[in-house]
Amino acid sequence: MCIYVAGHTGMVGSAILRALKHAGTDDVITATRQELDLTDQPAVRAFLRRHRPDTVILAAARVGGIMANESFPASFIRDNLTITTNVIDAAHQAGVQHLLNLGSSCIYPRDASQPIMEEALLTGPLEPSNAPYAVAKIAGITLCESYNRQYGTDYRSLMPCNLYGPGDNFHPDNSHVLPGLIRRFHEAAQAGFDYVVIWGSGTPRREFLHVDDLAEAARFVLDFDKVSFTAQTPPMCSHINVGTGHDISIINLAHIIADIVGFRGRIVCDRTKPDGTDRKLLDSSRLTRLGWSPKIALRDGIVATYDWYRTEIENGAT
Ligand code: GDP
Repeated sequence: MCIYVAGHTGMVGSAILRALKHAGTDDVITATRQELDLTDQPAVRAFLRRHRPDTVILAAARVGGIMANESFPASFIRDNLTITTNVIDAAHQAGVQHLLNLGSSCIYPRDASQPIMEEALLTGPLEPSNAPYAVAKIAGITLCESYNRQYGTDYRSLMPCNLYGPGDNFHPDNSHVLPGLIRRFHEAAQAGFDYVVIWGSGTPRREFLHVDDLAEAARFVLDFDKVSFTAQTPPMCSHINVGTGHDISIINLAHIIADIVGFRGRIVCDRTKPDGTDRKLLDSSRLTRLGWSPKIALRDGIVATYDWYRTEIENGAT
């Protein structure tokens, strides 16, 4: 079986590549951004027509933390809509029957009851800070459902909670909270600062899944036979959540990271920065009932991610 992983240089795509290799799947196609621009529709069509993989994993996206989403809303909706539409349509045109579309828990309404079930989609207004990104991801789910209905394809969508791990973006402003804080606490510990500033009130809660657990979930969902998978995912609710089932406040996350990197000073909350949504804990029972479960505890995952980050710094890569 030949699999094309779109976005293989990103955190999610590279974890999926590792998981596929680990499972002995050798027939994997990738293309760098220089080789294939996923926003270029004719190029994507030609690429998939030429290779005709059996399965496409759509892990390519423009992603970023709360400040990046607020600063570049047009780029987030445009690039994600374009990439998603191009890859899904080109897959269909090339006769690809199986596709896994990766999304995000930000697709759900800001005030959805917690833990959030798949059925909460489109039942209320989105969190404004990442609505443009969320709308593109919702469009991806609806594209998959619509192609399945009209063309009989088997295109599935997996919606993870906040992800972290090796290959993450550690940019001081544009990253997500976990890598952003690893970097800030690491630099503060090295410089001997008295305090570190975290954004917002520290009270929002987030659910964090190590990207290697997500990659196993992706493999698991792809391997599942269509009949059993479809039985778990009603026609107009074909996406499936993936998370650990546990969330943590941002201030407690900051304390864990401070402890791991050896920072002993104070933690100060900058309430002028946005909090985003209060909470987004997923109900992942649909997937756990099918037999998947996460393996990596949060603290262990952060320790490993911090090790990876330090190696990157030593190699001059970050
Ligand atoms: P979100 O889950 O889409 O809101 O994305 P983020 O990972 O960017 O932010 C999660 C939460 O962490 C928000 O409440 C942020 O205000 C908070 N936060 C605290 N410090 C930081 C930081 O240094 N970077 C980021 N990205 N978020 C931070």
